Amino acid sequence: MARPRRQVRSARERWERERRYTRVKNRLVACMERSLCETHFARFRSFGEGLEEFCALVSEAAPIVEDEVNVLFPESPNRITQVILQNFKEWLKSAEPVRSVCKLWYQFIRKAHLECDQCRGEAAYLIDSGSEIEDEDADVDED
Ligand SMILES: [Zn+2]
Repeated sequence: MARPRRQVRSARERWERERRYTRVKNRLVACMERSLCETHFARFRSFGEGLEEFCALVSEAAPIVEDEVNVLFPESPNRITQVILQNFKEWLKSAEPVRSVCKLWYQFIRKAHLECDQCRGEAAYLIDSGSEIEDEDADVDED
């Protein structure tokens, strides 16, 4: 009988998805906490608000998406540098489902990097040569 077997498989898939969800969430929270100073992390409301949606979408996407996310939210002791943030912005162009959530994250971290030495890791501020993220798809011809 095919039916019970399918149920087993879907239970397993659900379990895998839940595991991936938790893994992504833990990684993001740890990475963000490490990357921002205490004050900016505490003020970063859009992160808490968008986190569940982001993790749910990543956990349902192809495994390669989690690999990409792992590069953008690096393991300890690495943190989100200004260069990684620029890569994050580039990645958002091809990550339509999470774009609206992540646009707010990008903007917040970008601002933190601008005004806070600690969030910037004491590095010099890098001027972004590209444009800011536009609303809708106004930036398609940027390249
Ligand atoms: Zn800060």
